[in-house]
Amino acid sequence: MQNRSSALQTDRPRSHEEHSGTRDRVDPGHVPPGLTTAQANARLAEVGRNVLPQAAPRSVAAVFLRQFLSPLIYILLAAAAVSLALGDLKDALFIGAVLLINGVIGTAQEHTADKAAVALRRMEQPRATVIRDGIQQEIDASTLVPGDLVVLEAGNRVPADLELTSAIDLQCDESLLTGESLPVRKLSACDASNAPASARQCLTFAGTVVLRGRGHGIVVATGAATQIGRIARELGRESISQPPLILRLQRFSRLIAVAVGVAVALLVLVGMLRGMALRELFMMSVGLAVSAIPEGLPVAISVALAISMRRMAKAHVIVRKMPAVESLGSCTMIATDKTGTLTMNELVVTDIRLPDGTAFCCDVGHDLDNCTIRAAGTTDHDARTRVAALLRAAALPNEAQLSRERDGWTGTGDSVDVALLAAAHKGGTVANEIRQRYPLVARIPYEPDLRYAASFHRHEETIRVFVKGAPETLIAMCDQADVRGHAVPIRREGLLREKAALAAQGLRVLAFAEGTIDAEPDGSYGHGHLVNLTFLGMAGMKDPVRPEVPDAIRRCYSAGIDVAMVTGDDPLTASAIGAQAGLRFTTDQVVTGEQVRQAESKGPHGLDQLTRRARIYARVSPDQKLSIVLSLARTGHFVAVTGDGVNDAPALKHAHVGVAMGRKGTEVAKESADIVLTDDNFASIVNGINEGRVAYANIRKVIFMVVSTGAAEMVLFLLAIPLGLPMPLLPVQLLWLNLVTNGIQDVALATEHAEGDELSYPARKPREPIFDRVMIRRICYSTLVMGVGGFATFYWLLDRGYPLNEARNQLLLLFVLFENLQTFSSRSERHSVFRQGVFANPMLVVSVLAAQLLHIAAMYIPGLSDTLGLTPVSATTWAGLLSLALTLTIAVELDKWWSRRCKL
Ligand code: ADP
Ligand code: MG
Repeated sequence: MQNRSSALQTDRPRSHEEHSGTRDRVDPGHVPPGLTTAQANARLAEVGRNVLPQAAPRSVAAVFLRQFLSPLIYILLAAAAVSLALGDLKDALFIGAVLLINGVIGTAQEHTADKAAVALRRMEQPRATVIRDGIQQEIDASTLVPGDLVVLEAGNRVPADLELTSAIDLQCDESLLTGESLPVRKLSACDASNAPASARQCLTFAGTVVLRGRGHGIVVATGAATQIGRIARELGRESISQPPLILRLQRFSRLIAVAVGVAVALLVLVGMLRGMALRELFMMSVGLAVSAIPEGLPVAISVALAISMRRMAKAHVIVRKMPAVESLGSCTMIATDKTGTLTMNELVVTDIRLPDGTAFCCDVGHDLDNCTIRAAGTTDHDARTRVAALLRAAALPNEAQLSRERDGWTGTGDSVDVALLAAAHKGGTVANEIRQRYPLVARIPYEPDLRYAASFHRHEETIRVFVKGAPETLIAMCDQADVRGHAVPIRREGLLREKAALAAQGLRVLAFAEGTIDAEPDGSYGHGHLVNLTFLGMAGMKDPVRPEVPDAIRRCYSAGIDVAMVTGDDPLTASAIGAQAGLRFTTDQVVTGEQVRQAESKGPHGLDQLTRRARIYARVSPDQKLSIVLSLARTGHFVAVTGDGVNDAPALKHAHVGVAMGRKGTEVAKESADIVLTDDNFASIVNGINEGRVAYANIRKVIFMVVSTGAAEMVLFLLAIPLGLPMPLLPVQLLWLNLVTNGIQDVALATEHAEGDELSYPARKPREPIFDRVMIRRICYSTLVMGVGGFATFYWLLDRGYPLNEARNQLLLLFVLFENLQTFSSRSERHSVFRQGVFANPMLVVSVLAAQLLHIAAMYIPGLSDTLGLTPVSATTWAGLLSLALTLTIAVELDKWWSRRCKL
């Protein structure tokens, strides 16, 4: 069982990348065979795909045209028109070129962001489980056709409108269609003919959610023909809302625009008093507005977020809601599942205990036929005979499938169920055989809040019931125990001690029971029949901790993130696994669902007291997860919570960051989450947090660079004009400066890689403004260095008798150098530019070098040089200006050094 071996242990094969085409054999005689693939394909060609009508993606042309819908562009257009009217063709052409280039850059950036979003959405294609060619398989839900036989299970989103052919305890949430939030009971068509039921009760509708139970249904409508399809057409396309960070930045850009407007108005006033020409003043205002207003910021940030989303996707973290990129970095508490997240979800039964205390051990190999179950002092044959009754109760109330494929054994279904079927096989109990010997009459499927599963079977003239589940739950259902075929009174304390001994080894313990009941004339069997049963014994299953988890947990602690485990499993099992995973906790930090309930009854305050202390929550019911998450948030934590089932959806929705499991998670859990882990691995959350912090740091870098350079240009003008100097830079020079220093450098900064120490600092406070003390201080003095330095240079040049043109020429070069050096300094907030490796970000190096070369080339290109008022400079002048510009780098580096020193 080499290649497929993992399939034997993995949980429900929901991840379509790795498991597409997973096929289960369906029990013969249980369900109709469904369509054949050929029939399905023919119908698909006829009726079309099962998708709701969707808005067409934006075309590149539309995105390009949209770039010109901004007030700043209108101003520039007006400037071009004015230049043209005044006969200044060159300026007009130049402005036109700038507009075009801006449009192209903007389009490219938005297109990148759009593409990332589309790629992510594609990863979320809904899947559906169908029976075709008599084989249960998972397919892309968009290929469903009328007539298909669909399998439903708690946590599914119904993929099409279905008419139910079977329904076990099936309940749906139809609030999407009806607005009614109470669960709706569903019946199969033949059940409904016995009981008075509305026609609606035998139908399930596309888009609604299965809350509980299992069922089968025939597709009656797909795509636009479904109930939701009809509504969707009326509702029209859904609006795309922007993430809060982007909205905050848009507001911030507007604020700066107003500030720039006021400053420009002041300058114009002063200029008018000084008798400057109106046209000159107008063009100056345009130039300043364009270069100082960070209009590209929101787009650059969208790109930064899109890039992070892509990087996260590579690290197995799919971001469903863009702001989650940012909020992940602020987590201070992760409330994590145990099974499958901290552990591998590769369950294997290792131990079996009978009620008389006999211990059996179970081989753990993958080659089921060559494994067996042994006990000290007996032959293997005797051992197998003695565990046969227990294994039958493990295999019958069991929904998994085990089949032998060419390359080994494959299991599909719940991982506990698969492990039990494998153990049964090793003990000589073949599921498919006994499923035929004991025809199924009714089933209580496993749901996490029940903690058991039961099934009712016809055997000779009686109804036999078999139950498997949590030991405490089963012990309460039993009044006798099976000892060598004889029913003796049950010894509850002894059994609980045995369970504790197994659980303390980190094993998940399940118990088994059976009973005989009278046949019910109406065939309805339920929880009420589970009394006076006979206890058959227990099985302990091992689920190793994922090897990368202890290190991930260590990284959490060093990043100031606390980790709590929330599990439905036994406290002893949870503690043992927690210890193996490297969680830090003491025994009084282990609490149970019962304690949570008691604390809750004292009001929110009581629960908060408990959650402040607790780190392992065991035997909690799924609905308690939400209370725990809300309480953690009340105590000041920024909470990430993991989940996979339908019942986890509220917790996932309400947590600051909801993390769903991509493989074993249900559709509903994924839809409620902010992020989805494609490998279900705890370590991926930590990598996601790391990426989240990188993303936020990059956003700060871009903002620092853009704002400090824009402000420097304003300072230059605010000093020069009132002090009686001529305009230090021509309007076209300002436009040029903006183009060669901010054109792609901001995006290049947004792609910076991790600095490596992101997880060695405590989390940023979520309410902390982007403009914190460090940012404001650093913007202020780098603005002063550039603004005052530039002004002094300009003053000195004019004072030394340089012609105005040449003074502007040199000043422009100085600013190009200043701003490009500032781009480098912005690469790290804490560390020196040199620690980062100057060439670590090739796009940045290339864009800066290209800007330099472009600027120098422009001095020699005939048409361009006179439009921009550029003249070639000597190498000495260039070196002189460069050394002047380096004062900025030195100043910023000194500040970083000082901040590092003070923090230590
Ligand atoms: P976890 O938090 O580890 O995922 P669960 O909520 O899945 O825990 O399981 C809680 C308890 O329910 C388990 O300790 C076990 O006793 C019982 N249980 C789990 N899976 C099954 C199953 N397939 N059939 C019967 N009982 C189960
Ligand atoms: Mg589970």
